[in-house]
Parts: sequence; structure tokens; C-alpha cells
Amino acid sequence: MEGILRLLDEHYGTDLGATLDYAPDKAWQLLFSTILSAQCTDARVNMVTKDLYVKYPNVQAFADADLAELEQDIHSIGFYHAKARNLIGCAKKLVSEFGGEVPRTIEELTSLPGVGRKTANVVRGNVFHDPSIVVDTHVKRVTNRLGLTNETEPARVEQDLMKCLPKDHWILINLQGITLGREICKAPTPRCDACFLAEYCRKYEKDHKKDRQRAGKES
Ligand code: SF4
Repeated sequence: MEGILRLLDEHYGTDLGATLDYAPDKAWQLLFSTILSAQCTDARVNMVTKDLYVKYPNVQAFADADLAELEQDIHSIGFYHAKARNLIGCAKKLVSEFGGEVPRTIEELTSLPGVGRKTANVVRGNVFHDPSIVVDTHVKRVTNRLGLTNETEPARVEQDLMKCLPKDHWILINLQGITLGREICKAPTPRCDACFLAEYCRKYEKDHKKDRQRAGKES
């Protein structure tokens, strides 16, 4: 584990931040952008929110938004019917139950429409700097291949990673895992020969054992 973390830190650094754009003093923007980012690239979300957060400058403006108009505003993001409904529902609940502020605990965050553990952990880690592990498709794949977990259900992967990672890497593992997953440890075909983690990787070890066995039989 120490070797993996050291190499991830060396290759990707430790000052990675969220790739979704938001004003640091407006936590609700990160919350809403994360809701919008499901099944969509961060780059596309950033393009849309650049104007969206000018048109709707605060939580109350989203709470008062017209559903059809908001759908139109975000239609290029995909799943815009559900996402528009969730943004309005989320804004209404923030206003009615949390004084217009983004709450801090996972229970409060996941009580908001459209907010699951992944979104809640993005907010907790980036806004409140509470150690939290965001398990998305890249983190799930990469940590399974490396041998840090055998689970596929995100909440269980999260539990396994909490047990084996030091807290100072809980937020980082998501940012570094996404970068590794996008650049090298791709689905479905990882670029193991170009990977700086190969010597510590369970999948690499397993695949090469098979190769060696095959070569032994053929010789
Ligand atoms: S060695 Fe291959 S499977 Fe292992 S982390 Fe690197 S790219 Fe992924």
C-alpha cells in the first residue's frame, strides 16, 4: 500500500482539486454541478454552469425556477428532465430545512433530492475537507485491479478503502484514481506496460503469471 500511495503522489501530486468549476464561497455550486455531472463530462457541465450560475445566482433562484425553463437551460447535459427536477427539489429543501446552506453530514446531504453517497462525499471532501472517499467507476475499477478491494458495490468499496488507506489519502484516492483510470488503467484494456504501478498491482501479477505459465508450456 505504501508503495502505491508514494508512486501516485509522485506521479500525480497531492494538490489535485475538483475538476468541476465553482466559486469557493458558494458550496451549493459544487453540489449542483456534481448532481449535473452524472453520466456527463465535467468539461460539458462547466460549459453549461458558466451561464447557468449567472442566470440563477443563488439557491433561492433555483428554488423559484420554472421547471420547463430550467430543463431548457441544461438540456445539453443529458438526463435533463430528472436533473432539473432534482436541482429544484434540492434547492427547495436547502431553503426550507437548512437555511439555504449546504449541510455537512452524509445523512443530511443524502436526504437531498438527487444526492447519493458519491455526490455527498465530493461535497464533504472538497468543501468541508472532511476525509471522505468518493467511489466512482474509475476508482472502483482501479482499486479492484490493484487488489485494494474485491467489492464492486460502491458503498462496500468505500468501506474497504477506509480500512486500508490513511486518512490523508481518502480525498486524494478519488482524484488520483480518476487520473490513472482515464490515462492508463482504462476500461476495458489497461495499458499495463506503461503503468508505474505494475510492480504493486494484483492484476498485473496475475496476468503475467498466466503469461509465464503459457510460455512454460510452449517451451
Ligand atoms: S498495472 Fe495495469 S491493471 Fe494494474 S493499475 Fe496499472 S494499468 Fe491498471
